[in-house]
Amino acid sequence: MVLGQCPYCGGNVIAQKITAKGQKINLYHCEHARKERDINDDYVFASDASCRFRVYSNTFLRWNKRSLSENEMKQLLKEGQITIRLHGRKGTSEYFKHIVPDPEYGVSILWDTPID
Ligand SMILES: [Zn+2]
Repeated sequence: MVLGQCPYCGGNVIAQKITAKGQKINLYHCEHARKERDINDDYVFASDASCRFRVYSNTFLRWNKRSLSENEMKQLLKEGQITIRLHGRKGTSEYFKHIVPDPEYGVSILWDTPID
């Protein structure tokens, strides 16, 4: 399923369901950022990969956001920036932050940008 255009190369960004450490999650990745197993069984960018845009839906788990949804990813690709809801530790309140595509991490949180 194509969610939108890659912010870096304009390729299609595809949603793929994968299982990582026993959890079913989504991987959103640019069609030009394919990974494969190398001879040491390490998971590396394919030799023909010309892009690095890959985001796992559980990328914000540290901030207690269980999943970045397909709709959120679609919106991010369209708008270039979206607001997501994060949570503190159990029992503490939720808060909102902007996220943007990041060439190194896939997406990153703009901690210092205030939310209106
Ligand atoms: Zn790309």
